[in-house]
Amino acid sequence: MKRSFRIISAGKERLRIWVQIVFTAATNGYWKGFYEGRIYTGPSKSLCLPGLNCYSCPGALGSCPIGSLQAVLASRNFTFSFYLTGFFLLVGSLIGRIVCGWLCPFGLIQDLLHRIPFVKKIKRVPGDRTLRYAKYGILLIFVILLPMFVVDIVGQGEPWFCKWICPSGTLMAGWPLVFRNDGIRQAAGLLFLWKNGILLLLILLSMMIYRPFCKYVCPLGAIYGFFNKISLYRLRIDRSRCVHCHACTRSCKMNINVEANPNSMECIRCGSCISACGQKALSIRAERNDSLLK
Ligand code: SF4
Ligand code: SF4
Repeated sequence: MKRSFRIISAGKERLRIWVQIVFTAATNGYWKGFYEGRIYTGPSKSLCLPGLNCYSCPGALGSCPIGSLQAVLASRNFTFSFYLTGFFLLVGSLIGRIVCGWLCPFGLIQDLLHRIPFVKKIKRVPGDRTLRYAKYGILLIFVILLPMFVVDIVGQGEPWFCKWICPSGTLMAGWPLVFRNDGIRQAAGLLFLWKNGILLLLILLSMMIYRPFCKYVCPLGAIYGFFNKISLYRLRIDRSRCVHCHACTRSCKMNINVEANPNSMECIRCGSCISACGQKALSIRAERNDSLLK
């Protein structure tokens, strides 16, 4: 007999937003840092948080996995990081992109921006399917190859994604630090302007398109997506209940054909499709993936 445990059953959108808010507040709980314009450097900072949570956010109690990965790859004394590899394997194989739907602060920000009324919503962007591949290119080029191979004379590389792209860093770290720290404000130059341009564009797009950063840009979402089909917690469709009304697919703001591919790499486990299904055919469950054992 199959053993399974259901964690998302129905109609939980408000609960999801609250989980995102509480988790973001708790993991960025060094409030003094925002007031004093300096970052927390205590012992928990050596541990990674699951979502795209900037290391330099003044309140951050932990590190960003993508920032940590670049720091390891760019280091002139590069050594294989068992901690980071284990972290990605553990989080990915347990919950996959549940992190994106429920625990990531930048996911929360995009969710809130998309709720702003009076802005025309675009359900599907032209070229959507092709644009989705961009995040894998960004992961490969900006997170892995450039930090590893573009190095200075002592062999030290740079965190290219953090430095040139990450809008989460600009919002969570750049803005509060520039606002409260005189030294950082005076040092802010063209690079900060460039990063603000990216952030403002994403803020605007997020009001119209559901999670444009997660769909097209985020290297962390790309990594967790690889685990979606095999993670312990994943979306399950009870085919005996499904009446093929397509309500689940119509409700999915990540534009996934839920019936055909319930464990798509793009699924952020938000639960909208579960709520939309009048037959209760969908659930997110902890379940052994027997197909992997065959
Ligand atoms: S795709 Fe990236 S930014 Fe979006 S929720 Fe996932 S980790 Fe966060
Ligand atoms: S298939 Fe779509 S609606 Fe369902 S959990 Fe995944 S992202 Fe949300």
